[in-house]
Amino acid sequence: MNQHIFANLEHTFNDLLELFFPSLCIACGNRLVSQEKYLCLSCWADLPVTNFHLEAENKVAQIFWGRVQIENATAWFHFRKGSNYQQIIHFIKYKGIKELGLECGKRLGSCLADSEGYKNIDAIVPVPLHPKKHKKRGFNQSEWIAKGISEMLEKPLITGNLHRKIHTSTQTKKNRLERWQNVEGIFAVKNPEEFSGKHLLLIDDVATTGATLEACAEPLLNSENTKVSIATLAYADI
Ligand SMILES: [Zn+2]
Repeated sequence: MNQHIFANLEHTFNDLLELFFPSLCIACGNRLVSQEKYLCLSCWADLPVTNFHLEAENKVAQIFWGRVQIENATAWFHFRKGSNYQQIIHFIKYKGIKELGLECGKRLGSCLADSEGYKNIDAIVPVPLHPKKHKKRGFNQSEWIAKGISEMLEKPLITGNLHRKIHTSTQTKKNRLERWQNVEGIFAVKNPEEFSGKHLLLIDDVATTGATLEACAEPLLNSENTKVSIATLAYADI
């Protein structure tokens, strides 16, 4: 009985909250209707997808040519400066909306599940944060994206084995060269056997210069017989 009253109260409270603080689409600012969350249906439909997962020689794959052996690389949507869709990354990373990271991971994961290049993935590995940063932020955004992908590909998520040895400053205000220098040699694998013989899918929120992804791929490839592919939510030209 009490449970029923509480459920009703909660319902009323949510309705009131909705009345005074209506949820708005983070991309266009329009009011969301009941089944919509974070983005309205038309913004989801207009997402500037890259379809890079259907094209082996795409712009993200080209970043790594001649640098590091990557099987397949893709990013889900274009991230243009000032674009409304920049908000997706902002909300996941800086406003801590983990659920949106998970949702985006699932949507990207369902694209990958239908793609030839990602069919033989064995495990999903998110780009790790330094433990200090992880503690401060409370979560790793790449891990939530990876969780969604792992669910859709039905492959295990492996966290903790690839780790960040050195705490570095943020990449966002750095130029191309500084970005490479900032992350070189900062990642390592604790137990190479856990990765050996596996095709790993490395996950990050945004691919820009590829510096962080390359710095992660190198120690992954030092495990015996590993292959590495890459998927990010967004691709940003800088
Ligand atoms: Zn919208």
